[in-house]
Amino acid sequence: QTAGAAEDTIFGKILRKEIPCNFIYEDEKCVAFHDINAQAPTHFLVIPRKPIVQLSQASGDDSQLLGHLMLVGAKVAKDLGLDKGYRVVINNGQHGAQSVYHLHLHFLGGRQMQWPPG
Ligand code: 5GP
Repeated sequence: QTAGAAEDTIFGKILRKEIPCNFIYEDEKCVAFHDINAQAPTHFLVIPRKPIVQLSQASGDDSQLLGHLMLVGAKVAKDLGLDKGYRVVINNGQHGAQSVYHLHLHFLGGRQMQWPPG
């Protein structure tokens, strides 16, 4: 995957508003929206506007952005009332079961999680 490839994903289309999606949060660096195939009562994604393909392709230049994504997710989780906790997941590449090659953080909550995952 090249850096440009992330622009061609479904998330690129969402960011360019080529397909409809209700953002639950947005700022100049990132957006958050509910996952279309929720794996928990609350399951939202936080994605950077910058088309980073996957975590393993992020660089030192992205340090601040990566921190921002986590803090935004934590704020949205709080706003959505996930006061009992939640799980944060980044699927990276084939073995990580990544399906959309535009970096995204999953936030899952509203039920008891198990560990280890499958
Ligand atoms: P991955 O498997 O790459 O970690 O996660 C991609 C996630 O994006 C999946 O959980 C999938 O359900 C979600 N997703 C894929 N297409 C869309 C879409 O068009 N809209 C929304 N809201 N979520 C999507």
